[in-house]
Amino acid sequence: MIALDILAIGAHPDDVEIGMAGTLAKHKQAGYKTGIYDLTYAEMSSNGTVELRQEEAKDASQILQLDVRGTIGLPDRGLQLIKTHIDEVVKIIRWHKPRIVFAPYWEDRHPDHIMCSRIVQEALFNAKLRRYMPELPAHTVEQAYFYFINDTVPADLVVDVSEVYEQKRLALGAYRSQFTPQTNEMVSTPLTQGYVERVEARDSLLGQGRGMKLAEGFITKGPYAVQYF
Ligand SMILES: [Zn+2]
Repeated sequence: MIALDILAIGAHPDDVEIGMAGTLAKHKQAGYKTGIYDLTYAEMSSNGTVELRQEEAKDASQILQLDVRGTIGLPDRGLQLIKTHIDEVVKIIRWHKPRIVFAPYWEDRHPDHIMCSRIVQEALFNAKLRRYMPELPAHTVEQAYFYFINDTVPADLVVDVSEVYEQKRLALGAYRSQFTPQTNEMVSTPLTQGYVERVEARDSLLGQGRGMKLAEGFITKGPYAVQYF
């Protein structure tokens, strides 16, 4: 299993892209190993099929040049804070030994995003414990950060993604069944109502006042550790 510098986890394919596609693209450019895992196949989506969404995720992964993209296959709208669900994430963390893990911010209008955040936080703790799931070596992640999907609060830190923003636009554009109202069969959802434009507007606001054209924002739970400023 390939070792990752950055592992980003979402409930559905497209969650991570909405929150931090630019940050992943930027770090990949700098030589970091990056990966995304989706907890579910988003089989409850109003638009698109599982097969189509997997195609879209594959396209987005290529655009972001991810080293790893995987789906755990937990039930969409059935995510729970239970051992079997947490253990799936513990395995991913122990297989890929990331230095940094990203999860959705713990408040969001979609309950699956909240549950994903909680499952990842539990998994990060258990992944450190030598006697927990002893068949896989324990792994301690250096730092966890939380990215925004639907709801935003003042960020603890922001990453300048102006230079790589075209990659984010393309990665979001890859999810054509979600964001592009193309056919009459598509159901109108918040995603088909100018959602991508709103993501870009948010990212523009996050950069405002910091000399950044476009930025992605993150929340931390623990203090941000530095050796030198
Ligand atoms: Zn989602």
